[in-house]
Amino acid sequence: MIYGLTGGIGSGKTTVSKILRDKGFIVLDADEIGKEVTAKGEPLLRMLVKEFGVDIIQEDGELDRRKLANLTFGDREKTNRLNELVQTAILCRAIGQFHKLSLTEPRKVMFFDVPLLYEAGWDRYMEQVWLVTAPEDVRIERVEVRDGLSEEEIRQRIRLQMSEEEKSQRADVIIENDGGMAKLMSQVEKAIAENL
Ligand code: ADP
Repeated sequence: MIYGLTGGIGSGKTTVSKILRDKGFIVLDADEIGKEVTAKGEPLLRMLVKEFGVDIIQEDGELDRRKLANLTFGDREKTNRLNELVQTAILCRAIGQFHKLSLTEPRKVMFFDVPLLYEAGWDRYMEQVWLVTAPEDVRIERVEVRDGLSEEEIRQRIRLQMSEEEKSQRADVIIENDGGMAKLMSQVEKAIAENL
């Protein structure tokens, strides 16, 4: 069974995925798989060339991420086509990896860490979705410290994501990360005890 793990920027989703790994659970990271499927020589690159032109590949065969971003920036149709191609490739690879792991994995539940899980509509593929959430001010403070971004830059990123209210309504399990590490740990342990 695959459980989705999601949360907006600064919510503490990555911290929760670390806790789950430390407890012995398998957690696949959609961002990591995103790097794999766009690596040099991957079939997805040919699909992206077909869609966006050969200029998006550098001389050394690597994807020119900045060029691709510039080509699609502000163009909703192109952005949608790009997201569809990349997300499909990530999902295919993740399913393959989950399948392989399920052959040897003694625990039945594995987690899929996806920052934009609801935005991509992947909640419908998950047995359950666990949402990590925290008040906006706390999230901003954490990201200011972690990434050195300004408050306005972080607010802009937050605005691009689905609202916490909507995600909270849809989630099966909500992990409130509004305190320190000890509180987060006990929240995760409670979620495990009640759902696994
Ligand atoms: P996300 O992956 O949701 O963007 P992270 O898990 O990377 O968020 O957390 C953002 C920052 O806040 C990190 O530097 C992390 O160490 C810190 N952090 C998260 N949760 C807590 C907590 N409960 N107590 C203290 N620091 C935290």
